[in-house]
Amino acid sequence: MNRQINRIFLDLDGVLADWLSPAVRAHGRDPDEVLAAWPASTYDLAEVLGVSTNALWKPIHAQGAAFWEQLEPYPWVHDMVRGCQEFAPTTILTSPSLDPMAAAGKVAWMQRVLGRDFRDFLIGPDKPSCARPGAVLIDDRDSGCEAFIAAGGHAVVFPQPWNSLRSLALATGPRTISADGPWGFVLHELHAIDKTLSESAGLVSTWLRDLAEAIDSGEVIDDDVAQALFRADGYNIGCPLSEAMNGGSDRAEALLERWPKP
Ligand SMILES: [Mg+2]
Repeated sequence: MNRQINRIFLDLDGVLADWLSPAVRAHGRDPDEVLAAWPASTYDLAEVLGVSTNALWKPIHAQGAAFWEQLEPYPWVHDMVRGCQEFAPTTILTSPSLDPMAAAGKVAWMQRVLGRDFRDFLIGPDKPSCARPGAVLIDDRDSGCEAFIAAGGHAVVFPQPWNSLRSLALATGPRTISADGPWGFVLHELHAIDKTLSESAGLVSTWLRDLAEAIDSGEVIDDDVAQALFRADGYNIGCPLSEAMNGGSDRAEALLERWPKP
């Protein structure tokens, strides 16, 4: 299968592992009760529990690497990791807390759940540095997905009660995560992104062909985009091409409009 998506980055906490429940229990609260009363449009657990950020992390960090290693895997973890790997090369991309032991615990979790020799991971807070055309981040944090898209990638918000897909995460119905499983939802979104990229690639190839014909016929093109293309090396239009690919078909069409056809 010829995919336009060339890399999937999978978040760990809140997507593959239940971070929330033990974090809530560390504060002596019941996860089911806290989730049932979770306020809409709120991501921050400290805010929900009414504690400072430092106070939130204190009992978690007191548990060291064990807190992270013992996180309960969500029931879909194997379907999802395998399914992503079958769709495109897949890397788990996870940000550690400020406790150095968080990184150790995360590696231990991946070895425990995904196998002793599992090595397809990156640990670091700067997820947008992995963004590029064709790369998709699957993450439960809206702002993280937005930053990844702004940096040139694509993203799927993983439905959870603490993000913008709250109603999808909580609802019951034919297209909910409870009916299809979260992997069903993610797979649907991956296909949608891949389809958009394919359509965009088709438009761009038309645009390239038109440009090549115009150059070959010696036509004078004064559009600023085309000027920039001429300054590029031969037909190498890496920058506008990546913009068009990344922006989807709308962006590609806008670029086409700006450049008069011969
Ligand atoms: Mg997360």
